[in-house]
Amino acid sequence: MAAKHDVVIIGAALNGLAMALALGGNAQRRRLSVALVDSRDPRDVLKRAGDGRASAITLTSRRMFEALGVWQAMQPFGQPVHQIIVTDAKGAASDRPVLLQFAAETEAGESSMLMFDNRDLLGSLVTSVESSPDITLYSGSAVKEVDNKTPGLARAKLADGRELKAPLIIAADGARSPTRIAAGIEMVGWAYGQSGIVTSFRHSLPHQGRAEEHFGAEGPFAILPLTDNRSSIVWTCKEETADRLLARSPDEFERELQAQIGSHLGEIKLVAPPQGYPLGMWIAKEFHGPRLALVGDAAHVVHPLAGLGFNLGLKDAAALAECIADAFSLGQDIGSDQVLTRYAAWRRFDTVTTAMAMDGFNRLFSNDVALLKLVRDAGLKLTQSSAAAKSFFVREAAGMTGELPKLLRGDRP
Ligand SMILES: Cc1cc2nc3c(=O)[nH]c(=O)nc-3n(C[C@H](O)[C@H](O)[C@H](O)COP(=O)(O)OP(=O)(O)OC[C@H]3O[C@@H](n4cnc5c(N)ncnc54)[C@H](O)[C@@H]3O)c2cc1C
Repeated sequence: MAAKHDVVIIGAALNGLAMALALGGNAQRRRLSVALVDSRDPRDVLKRAGDGRASAITLTSRRMFEALGVWQAMQPFGQPVHQIIVTDAKGAASDRPVLLQFAAETEAGESSMLMFDNRDLLGSLVTSVESSPDITLYSGSAVKEVDNKTPGLARAKLADGRELKAPLIIAADGARSPTRIAAGIEMVGWAYGQSGIVTSFRHSLPHQGRAEEHFGAEGPFAILPLTDNRSSIVWTCKEETADRLLARSPDEFERELQAQIGSHLGEIKLVAPPQGYPLGMWIAKEFHGPRLALVGDAAHVVHPLAGLGFNLGLKDAAALAECIADAFSLGQDIGSDQVLTRYAAWRRFDTVTTAMAMDGFNRLFSNDVALLKLVRDAGLKLTQSSAAAKSFFVREAAGMTGELPKLLRGDRP
């Protein structure tokens, strides 16, 4: 017998958990019952050490967490970013001309972003999901088939024989989304031939809440501040360079990282093993199918140079929750084409423009072509001298541009 819910979400990592919270206990008149399925148990994150990945959370994403009632538990783990610097890092660590430098506070004096260890983000979201009476977690078994042949219903069949049914299935099952692939929705985009190495480390001197982005010939090298005198990195380089670096012993890698960072953070000590992620830009041709919506990496993968991937996923979750809540309050079918088309139209354009902007930045900076370098440096100098341009960048970093769903403005739909 299939268990009946209003929505089945496949994937309980960052985006699936946020999606579940955006729906659970969300409808004003009647509550939505949400099934959240993952082949892994998301509660295990509370038992594990972090894997070195960190995320920049924009001001609007923070508003969403406040509206969902998660922020209070999450905030102590967040390091506010006070300042952002961008340098030209073609030479040694001691010789990096600053191209752009600005305070990362909005006009209202709030931090445009906070940095979190992903483990802490996941931990806060899992704890909140566990205490939500509207969300049922089905973990430890993968969804092996999604069937939408029954009119008005979709079914998710799990490998262990359990079956779930709902008028809507949401795929939050990551960049290689088996649900998207089975639905025949293609991704368009390209691989960059770059890898992003991530890890985190302690350092002997304070970071002062400064986020650094150093643009080298192989790609950007970001140093991002965390709490407790820790920082994380995203070291973008060609795949062959990444393979060489990741083959080093922990001590050798630490030495190489210290040379790459320079001396301004003092002595560093790795606290997580370095890991490499292949980088690319991939966008699903459609964000929905029959009784199916895609969110997060299942719908789009962007270059991590501005730390926007998860924030884009939160925008998906907020927009989809609003489309569903509107339909639900009018007694409409929440998995209908009409509801899903509204969601896809809302999110796809914004996603494509953000992904293309990241793509453009990466191409402009990850090369040594003299003419491009001239145009780029002139543009950055202009930005550096313009208060209006800097304010625009801070608003972009805070996620405050574009048509924002209610949750990103701090309201429940
Ligand atoms: C180097 C790097 C740095 C980044 N930095 C940032 C940053 O600073 N800020 C930011 O916003 N973003 C950042 N991102 C992007 C961000 O990490 C991702 O967008 C985000 O983690 C994607 O989460 P997700 O939940 O969509 O997918 P995933 O984390 O891939 O989770 C998918 C889940 O689905 C489950 N699953 C898969 N298939 C099935 C199945 N058949 N049945 C059941 N469960 C299934 C998996 O077990 C998994 O738990 C970065 C990315 C990279 C690579």
